[in-house]
Amino acid sequence: MSKWLPTHWALWSAPRVVLGYVVAVDVLALAVVGASFVGLDIRSDDWVRFGALVIGSALHVEAGREIERLRAVVSEGTTYVNLKSMWMFAAILILPPPLALAVIAASYVHSWARMRRNPPYRGFFSASTVILGSALAVMCLRTINPDHQPGFTGGLVGLLAVTAAALAYWLINFALVVGAVLLSNPEANARKALGQLSDQFIVAGALGLGTSTAALLLYQPWLTVALLITVLGLHRALLVGQFQFAARTDPNTGLANTMFWHEIAAKTLEGAQNNNTPLGILYLDLDHFKSVNDTHGHLAGDQVLKAIAAELKHEVRTDDLVGRLGGEEFAILLPNTDVDDTLHTAERIRHRIANLVITVTAPNGKMEVDGITCSIGAATFPVSGQSLDVLLMAADTATYAAKESGRNRVVTAPSRTPGQLS
Ligand code: GH3
Ligand code: MG
Ligand code: MG
Repeated sequence: MSKWLPTHWALWSAPRVVLGYVVAVDVLALAVVGASFVGLDIRSDDWVRFGALVIGSALHVEAGREIERLRAVVSEGTTYVNLKSMWMFAAILILPPPLALAVIAASYVHSWARMRRNPPYRGFFSASTVILGSALAVMCLRTINPDHQPGFTGGLVGLLAVTAAALAYWLINFALVVGAVLLSNPEANARKALGQLSDQFIVAGALGLGTSTAALLLYQPWLTVALLITVLGLHRALLVGQFQFAARTDPNTGLANTMFWHEIAAKTLEGAQNNNTPLGILYLDLDHFKSVNDTHGHLAGDQVLKAIAAELKHEVRTDDLVGRLGGEEFAILLPNTDVDDTLHTAERIRHRIANLVITVTAPNGKMEVDGITCSIGAATFPVSGQSLDVLLMAADTATYAAKESGRNRVVTAPSRTPGQLS
C-alpha cells in the first residue's frame, strides 16, 4: 500500500533519512520472517489453504490489473490501497506465520512482475510494511486468544481478537507508509500524505472480506469460490464507476467537462420541456485572459482558472451545473430559473469575479492577481429558444455581444416570438 518516492528515484540517490528509514523497515521485516520459523508446525490442511489463498490472490491481481495500474498512477505521491490485501489478512488469520508470509510475498512478486511500474525496492518496502503489520496482528491474535491456530474462537473473544488484529495490521501499515511519504517529500502536506478517507474504507472492506475468506476456508472451503466471484465483480464495477466519474470531470478545475455538461444539459432541458419549467443557460468567457498568461505564466493562469471555477461553484445552487467548455470558457446550467433570475445570477457571478483577488505561485514567487473580469451571455428556455442547439447558440452569440460592447458585462439573448421558436 504505498506510493511515495518519485518513481524515477533510485533508492541510493534518496536522502539519507529516507534511505535509513526504508532499510530499517526492510531489515525489521526480514527479522520477523526469520522469527516466524520458530516452533514451526505445518499440516496438510495448511498447504491446501495456502494454495487457495495464493490462487485467489493471483486471480484478483489479474482481474484488476488494468484498473489498478491506473489507480496506482493516479495516487502517485500519496497512499495507494487496494482490496487485494484481503487475501493476506485471511492468511494471517488462519495460516502458520511462514505460510502467511509466503502468501504476502507471492502477492507482491506477482503484482510487481505484472505491473513493473516501480523499482523493486518499493515493492519490497510495501511488503515489509505488510509483514510488520502482520506480525503485530498475529501477536494480538495470540494474546487475546492463546490457543487460536488455526481457527476462530467463537463468541465475543473471537470477534475481539480479529478486530484487534485488523486494527494492528491497518495501523502499522498506514503509519509506515505515511511516514515514508512525509520523509521523502517534506513538501507534501499531511492531508495529502494521509490520502483520501474513502481509501480507508477500501482497507476496512479488504479486512472484512479477509475475515470472511478465512472463515469460509476453515469451515466451507468450496464456498470461497462464491466469495471470489463476488469480490472480483464488485471490484471491477466499483472501480470502473470511479473512472467513469473521472472521465466526466475536468482535471484542473474539477468541474464537469464539456461532454458531460452537454449530456446533462440535454437531459435537464428534456425535463424542463415535459414539466413546462424554465431553464437558464450562461456562457462565460474571461476577458483578456491571454494577458494573464503573458504576465504571470501559463501555470499561474491555470491556478487562476481553478480559483475561478471554485468561485463559480460557490455562487450557484447545488442543483446548478458548472462546466468547463474548454480553455477559459465556462457554461452554467440553471434548472428552474426564469429570465429575471438567470440575469440576476449572471450579474452576481460577474461581480464576484470582478472583485476576486487570487493568490498564485508565479515563477518569481507568490503574487496576487486581481481585476479579472468576464463577459457573460444568458439564454433561457423557453424564451430564447426551444432546442438545446438554439439555446446554446443564443448564449454564445450573447457572450460575443457582451465582448463587443466593452466586456465585463452580461447580455441576455433576445426573446424569440412564437413564430420563430424551433
Ligand atoms: P477576450 O477578452 O477576447 O476573451 O480575450 P482572451 O485573451 O481571453 O481571448 P480568448 O477568449 O480567445 O482566450 C484564449 C486565451 O486563453 C488563450 C490562452 O492564453 C488562454 N487559455 C485558454 N485555455 C487555457 C488554459 O487551459 N490554461 C491557461 N493558463 N490559459 C488558457
Ligand atoms: Mg475564449
Ligand atoms: Mg477570453
